[in-house]
Amino acid sequence: MFRKILIANRGEIALRIIRACKELGVKSVAVYSDVDKESLHVAFADEAVCIGPAPAKDSYRQIKNIIAAAEIAQVDAIHPGYGFLSENAEFAHICEECGFTFIGPKSEHIEMMGNKSVAKETMKKFGVPVVPGSDGPVPSVEVGLALAKKIGFPVIVKASAGGGGKGMRVAINELAFRSSFELARGEAEQAFGNGEVYIEKYIESPRHVEVQVFGDKHGHALHFFERECSIQRRHQKLLEEAPCIGIDQKLREKMGEISVKAVKSLGYWNAGTIEYLVDKHGNFYFMEMNTRIQVEHPVTEMITGYDLVQLQLKVASGEPFKIKQSDIRVLGHAIECRINAEDPETFLPSPGTITDYYAPGGVGVRIDSNVYNDYRVLPYYDSMVAKLIVSGKTRAEAIARMRRSLDEFIIQGIKTSIPLHQQIMDVKAYVDGDFGTDFIERYFS
Ligand code: ADP
Repeated sequence: MFRKILIANRGEIALRIIRACKELGVKSVAVYSDVDKESLHVAFADEAVCIGPAPAKDSYRQIKNIIAAAEIAQVDAIHPGYGFLSENAEFAHICEECGFTFIGPKSEHIEMMGNKSVAKETMKKFGVPVVPGSDGPVPSVEVGLALAKKIGFPVIVKASAGGGGKGMRVAINELAFRSSFELARGEAEQAFGNGEVYIEKYIESPRHVEVQVFGDKHGHALHFFERECSIQRRHQKLLEEAPCIGIDQKLREKMGEISVKAVKSLGYWNAGTIEYLVDKHGNFYFMEMNTRIQVEHPVTEMITGYDLVQLQLKVASGEPFKIKQSDIRVLGHAIECRINAEDPETFLPSPGTITDYYAPGGVGVRIDSNVYNDYRVLPYYDSMVAKLIVSGKTRAEAIARMRRSLDEFIIQGIKTSIPLHQQIMDVKAYVDGDFGTDFIERYFS
C-alpha cells in the first residue's frame, strides 16, 4: 500500500478520498486554490499545498502545478477524483513519467474512452451491443443526412469528445437535422476544442443504466451491479439509485457479464463505469465508459458494502482482488440526491454564503459534503454542495427515508435543489419506478 498520496481535487470527493486514506493508514496531501484555503479537505488532509488562483485552469486543471506539489510533498501516488484532470490521458501519462502512480486506469484506456466514437467501435469489437449509428465520426452534414435517413429519425448528433451533456442534439426530421448537426458541431468545438461528431439512433424514453466495473493489475475483473441514472435534466444526472428497478435478474446478470468481459478484453484496471441505454423491450446499448470514480458511486457502496475508493487505492498499489464475483451481493436499495446550489425555478447556480446548515441523520442516511455553517459556495466551481444518500431494505423504505431526510435538511442563505427532490419523491411515476430519461421533461417542464 502507498505511504502517502496527493489528491488532485477539491470539494466532497477530496474529503471522500481523505476518509478512505485514513482508514487504510495512508497519509494524504490536499491541494487547493487560494480561495479554497478554508475548505474542509485542506483541514482534514495531513498536508496541504496551494496550487494557484481560483480559476480551475490555473489551479485544479494546471498539470505542472499539481506535479510540483506532488514533488514537494514526496507522495507515491495521485488520485484525480472526478472532473478536473480525472479523464485527461496526458495527465495520467505525466504522473507515471514523473514516478507517481496514477490512481486510475492506464492513460491509453483514458484516451480510448475519451473519444466516444472510438470507444463505441472498440466495445462493438468485444461483443458489447451499441446503439445503431455511424461507424465513427461523420465528416459532413450531407453524409450525416444520408445516414440519418437510413437509420430512421429521430437521431441524436453527439460530440466524440463529449461530456457533461454538452455537444448533443436531437433531430426529429430531415429539416431539423441540418441545424442540429451544425449546432452540435459548434458546441463541441467550443466546449472541447474538437468539433468531431457522430450519429446515433435516438432511443425514446430509455433508462440510463450503468454498470460499476473494476479491474486489478493481474487480469481480474469484477462488477458491482448497476445504477439507475435516468432522472436527469439536460442530460445531467440529478438522482441515482441502485439497483435499477426496471431490469430483471436475468438482464442484470447479462449486463454484468458482458461488462466484465469487456473489462477483461481491454486489460483495463481500476474503477470504471460502463453506461448503457435500456429500451422498453429490455434491449441494452453501450453509450460510453467513464474511466474514473463517479459522483454516484455511494449508492453502489450502500448496497454492496464495499468501499470503492479504498479498492481504487488497493488496485493501484498492485494488490490483486481478494474477493470474487460471487462475494458481491445486492443488499437492499439506495438512492442519492445531488443537492446543488441553484435556483429551483430557473435552475441557475446560486452561489453565496450558507448561513445555517443542519444535515439529516439516523439509520441508513449518509451525507457526502464539504459544506458547513458560514461556508461560502464559490462561483468558480461545480454547484453541487452535498450528496444525500439513503438506503433501506426495500425501495419503498429508501423513498420514505429520502423524503424524511430531505425534510430534515436545512441549508439557509443559498437556494438549493432540495425542493425539486422533494417534488420528485411525490411523483407517482417515480414512486412506481415507471420512468425513463424524459422524466423531468415530462413532469417538470
Ligand atoms: P455525456 O458524456 O455528455 O454525459 P452520454 O453519452 O453519457 O453524454 O449521454 C448522456 C445522456 O444523454 C444519456 O443518459 C441519455 O439520457 C441521453 N442520450 C445519449 N445518447 C442517446 C441516444 N442514442 N438515445 C437517447 N438518449 C440518449
